[in-house]
Amino acid sequence: MTAATPTVEGLSELADLLTDGGAVVLSGAGLSTDSGIPDYRGATGSLRRHTPMTYQTFTRDPRGRHRYWARSYVGWRQIERARPNAGHRAVAALQQAGAVGEVITQNVDGLHQAGGAREVLELHGGLDRTVCLACGDMASRADLDVRLRTVNPGFRPEPTDEVNPDGDVELPEEALDGFVMVDCLACGGGPLKPDVVFFGETVPRDRVDACFALVDAARSLLVLGSSLTVMSGYRFVIAAAKRGIPVAIVNSGSTRGDAKATLKVDAPLGVVLPELARRLA
Ligand SMILES: [Zn+2]
Repeated sequence: MTAATPTVEGLSELADLLTDGGAVVLSGAGLSTDSGIPDYRGATGSLRRHTPMTYQTFTRDPRGRHRYWARSYVGWRQIERARPNAGHRAVAALQQAGAVGEVITQNVDGLHQAGGAREVLELHGGLDRTVCLACGDMASRADLDVRLRTVNPGFRPEPTDEVNPDGDVELPEEALDGFVMVDCLACGGGPLKPDVVFFGETVPRDRVDACFALVDAARSLLVLGSSLTVMSGYRFVIAAAKRGIPVAIVNSGSTRGDAKATLKVDAPLGVVLPELARRLA
C-alpha cells in the first residue's frame, strides 16, 4: 500500500469549493454500493434484472403486497447487516469540519446516520420503520421483524438473487404461500407499508419543500453517487443551477445533471470522499 494522494481529476477544485463551507449534499445509491446494497440504476443496476415494487401494485394488489413482505422479510437479514462505508464516514467528517451542512439522501438504508452524519433528510423515507396505511401509525421495522419471526418459524426460502435497494430479494413464487404477514399493532388492521417512497409514488410535498429550502440556502450543492435519473432528485440540481448555486457531482459514470454541473468528478466515492475529508477535516 502506498500513502500517495490519489490523482483524481477535479479533486483539488472540489476541495477548494468545499473550503467555503455550507455545501448541501444530495446522495444516491452509489454511496451505498460499497456497503453491499446494490444500485438500481448504476452500471450493474439491478433494475436491469428486477422490476421494483411500485406504489400501485403495493396498494392495489394484495398478492403483490404479500410478495413484497415475504421478500422483504428475507432481505431484511442483509439490510440489517449492512454497515456504513468509508464514504458515509467521510461525509460525517466533512460535516464536522463545517465543509458540508445538511444531507438530503435518496437512500432508504439509514447508513448516513449510522456513519455519524447529522441533519439527514430522507427524501425517499427509511426502511427502519413502517407506516400503517389505515391509521398512519409509525412503527419500528426491527420490532416488526421480531413479530414476523415469531409467526414464520419455518420460513427460510433461498433467495435467487442479491437484495434490492428497497430491501427485498427475489423469491421463487411457490415460496410465497408459506409466509405469514401480520397486521398493525395500533389498529389491528393495515396494511403495513415500509416508510419508503416506492416507484410511482409521490414524495410528500412538505418534505420536498424542506429540501428546496435547504438547496436555496446552500452555498453549493454536492451530488454524491446519483445518476439523477429520477426527477425526485434531479429537480434540486435544476433549482440550484437556476439560482446560480454551484453544483458539484461526484459519481462513477455520467449523470443526467452533468450539463448543469459546475464541477464533475468521475471517480469512485470510496476514493474521493476519504481524500476530501483528509484535506478538509
Ligand atoms: Zn393501523
